[in-house]
Amino acid sequence: MSVLSLAIGAASAHVHDVPCRAQSADIWFADDVASTAKAQALCQTCPLQAECLTGALERQEPCGVWGGELFDRGQVVAQHRPKGRPRKDADEIAAAAAGRVSARLAEVSLALAATEPELADLVAEAALEVAGAA
Ligand code: SF4
Repeated sequence: MSVLSLAIGAASAHVHDVPCRAQSADIWFADDVASTAKAQALCQTCPLQAECLTGALERQEPCGVWGGELFDRGQVVAQHRPKGRPRKDADEIAAAAAGRVSARLAEVSLALAATEPELADLVAEAALEVAGAA
């Protein structure tokens, strides 16, 4: 058995262990606050949270909960946007959410630094990017 096949097997095992694969993924794309909060809480237990959040930021996911954060039209938002006109304080809410995500990414980067230095660097770059966008 090659090293590559072992690595692929290990990665597959991780993917099947993640909460959004272990149960119905509906709550990760729900419109209600309770389901979204439940998905965000389950993401906090996921071994792939940092990679998931980094990937979602890079892809600018249009919707859903990814890596514990709620995405809407490619941006991390604090809560579901109500239908209709945008709020007058939408920019302030977006800046607060970006600050929160940046701080969380910085924490994840620090936690990964000892064991996954390359991933920690990527997450740190993402934290700076998000902070710059705030
Ligand atoms: S962090 Fe990503 S992979 Fe893990 S449960 Fe949440 S959405 Fe799924």
